[in-house]
Amino acid sequence: MDSPANDARSRQTQCCIAGGGPAGMMLGFLLARAGVPTVVLEKHRDFLRDFRGDTIHPSTLAIMDELGLLDRFLKLPHQKLDHIEGWFGAYRIKVADFHRLRTRCPYIVLMPQWDFLNFLAVEGRGLPDLTVMMCAEVTDVLRTNGRVTGVRANTLHGPAEIRATLTIGADGRHSTVRQQAGLELEDIGAPIDVLWFRVRREAAALDRAFTHITPGKVLITLDRGDYWQCACVIRKGAAESVKARGLSAFLDDVGRTAPSLKPHLSDVKSWDDVKLLTVAINRLKRWSAPGLLCIGDAAHAMSPVGGVGINLAIQDAIATSNLLGEKLRSRRLADADLPAVQRRRAWPAKMTQAFQVKAQDSILTPVLTGNHEVMRPPLALRLMTHSAWLRSLAARVVGLGFRLEHVQPVRPAA
Ligand SMILES: Cc1cc2nc3c(=O)[nH]c(=O)nc-3n(C[C@H](O)[C@H](O)[C@H](O)COP(=O)(O)OP(=O)(O)OC[C@H]3O[C@@H](n4cnc5c(N)ncnc54)[C@H](O)[C@@H]3O)c2cc1C
Repeated sequence: MDSPANDARSRQTQCCIAGGGPAGMMLGFLLARAGVPTVVLEKHRDFLRDFRGDTIHPSTLAIMDELGLLDRFLKLPHQKLDHIEGWFGAYRIKVADFHRLRTRCPYIVLMPQWDFLNFLAVEGRGLPDLTVMMCAEVTDVLRTNGRVTGVRANTLHGPAEIRATLTIGADGRHSTVRQQAGLELEDIGAPIDVLWFRVRREAAALDRAFTHITPGKVLITLDRGDYWQCACVIRKGAAESVKARGLSAFLDDVGRTAPSLKPHLSDVKSWDDVKLLTVAINRLKRWSAPGLLCIGDAAHAMSPVGGVGINLAIQDAIATSNLLGEKLRSRRLADADLPAVQRRRAWPAKMTQAFQVKAQDSILTPVLTGNHEVMRPPLALRLMTHSAWLRSLAARVVGLGFRLEHVQPVRPAA
């Protein structure tokens, strides 16, 4: 990753990408593969952070296949989720069934996102046009005559300026780039936050329920092989009151919500083992400005509902590469080309956010704020549980999304 070339305090490239998350790493890989000199700046030292989610959906697996990376990718340790089911009070609910998707991998791969990003970084090392700079935090955008012409960053070697024909903001839901560029954000609102912790998992365990819903409590368990990555959904801003009740009260609640976790809840020794992840749903009114384009969460922050944000970010990267890659390579890119990405990707992002808001309003908020003794799943969940067709439809929406992108073949240089 970090190469000696990173010493340069100032450099010029074709595309400069702020943020080495799924959107940034995938776009960097695709552009460099197409022969576009590209620099990705990631503020952290490595990808080893635990806040990113774990789901690689069939749409992304199809992309890995189109890139010829799938077989190597599937050699990394992972779990397969071919259906989603869980508990809603005393009811066993079934939500989505991926078996019948017509795609090479009709399942979700559960893999810590750092493994996925490391994989892209390692595959990208073979591409001479890709530079990934770690420990490089973008602090501002550079402008020439009002046009964005790159970024200013703090790097391992001090402040640097990366000048580029196109600057991409792929720096996530707290994007510095979109803020510094003054792009206007529309807040859709997410009434939830997440407490994120892990609990050991018995090899032989048993209840593979994904969602656990009891009165006032929503817990998601992601199978990471020898442990469960747990996401306890709480009302927005409620973290302090949860903490004020004490760790053992919190763990008791978790044990009542998902009894299969009880034997190892003592793995959570202090609040230091429980991370608060704030959730946002928002979107930019305009994803681009002269010289600049935002994609992924920087353009449309997704909530964890449906676990679809990673895949949407990757689909944005594919569309960006398809629409702008050849123009960048042949140095014909004009600012008027940039809104094409929003025109293509705004609709899937809006539809997905609408589905997340619906799930928030009809399931999460009533459960978290209600005063139920006995709970009954909402009609939609009852219908899904009884209809294989509806479960396939849900799998289509969750697994493949609303507008599937495909990797365009790389054109030989003229
Ligand atoms: C609690 C929670 C759980 C989630 N779980 C899932 C899930 O299981 N599955 C799923 O599909 N989605 C999940 N999501 C949504 C998902 O995390 C995002 O939609 C997805 O990560 C967006 O990818 P991205 O590349 O646009 O941004 P990010 O993944 O946020 O990546 C942005 C990158 O930019 C870097 N960066 C930030 N600022 C700077 C800067 N100034 N300079 C340089 N680098 C910078 C960050 O370090 C990061 O690496 C979850 C979201 C939340 C809040």
